[in-house]
Amino acid sequence: MKAALLLCTTLTFAQQLPLATIPPGKTMMVIQPHHDDHTTDYGMGGLIARFTGAGYQSWFIRSSNDEKDGAHGYPHNDMYNLRESEAATKILGMKGVYSLNWRNDYMDAIPLLELRAQIILLIRKHRPDAVLGHDPWGHYDRNPDHRKVARAMAEAVWMAGLANVHPEHLELGLQPHRVPHLFLKARVDYGRGHRPNVAVELNEDQVRRKQKAYVAHRNVYASPGMARSIRAQLQAEGLAVPEFAGKTDDEAAVLIEEWYMDWISRKRGSENGVKYAEVYWQRREFDYLPGLTDYLNANVVNR
Ligand SMILES: [Zn+2]
Repeated sequence: MKAALLLCTTLTFAQQLPLATIPPGKTMMVIQPHHDDHTTDYGMGGLIARFTGAGYQSWFIRSSNDEKDGAHGYPHNDMYNLRESEAATKILGMKGVYSLNWRNDYMDAIPLLELRAQIILLIRKHRPDAVLGHDPWGHYDRNPDHRKVARAMAEAVWMAGLANVHPEHLELGLQPHRVPHLFLKARVDYGRGHRPNVAVELNEDQVRRKQKAYVAHRNVYASPGMARSIRAQLQAEGLAVPEFAGKTDDEAAVLIEEWYMDWISRKRGSENGVKYAEVYWQRREFDYLPGLTDYLNANVVNR
């Protein structure tokens, strides 16, 4: 019997995606935080092989020193991981690896400006037609290095084309270069944001308490001025709301906010087959391992 507790909510794609082609060009760069980010389960290795197979010269930028990846201690992890990255990129047909050697998992603290300047310098040096990396707009990536490098990369591919950005590079004989093609990957199993995957049913009492809690924030909600202007507008049009009768603007404003809370709860409820609801994007602890979750859903039995 399958275990009900898993209740896997997997990401499904409503329709097939169009197939991309390798753009015309001759140089490609993979700009990533870690030694293994060019060969992850969620992308890059196959695309890199396609680029190099199409004749592209390509380079890998490892931004961190990967000291925390492995069981050999910081300095040895750095060396092992760099060597393995060089071996892996060679398998994919890449020309070489640049290691910026920022401290692994501690990249929040480094100046974005400095990391970006390094990437701009390398872009101006190699003048890539395409750059591959993490999607800086991918939501919920919990890895701080992924977020940091993705942002620096996305800014750099544009800013490298601006002559007024780091003009000292031009004194070295480099020229501005804007990267025309980007391929960005993200952990789509972490979610893309703003697409709820669960609805939470609410009962009458919970909705009423939600209304009261909402209007308790009188500093920001339930403005009597708002109620006054709505009443004036209705009056000008010869209309009235019976529930406003005998109420002050203050009381009418509270009523309006309570209606709003009731309305949104009903709307989310009717969209999800119940009377009242709220919707959320829920992730459970092991949802980032969809293969394991699918296996467990198919194979787990009651003891
Ligand atoms: Zn990584």
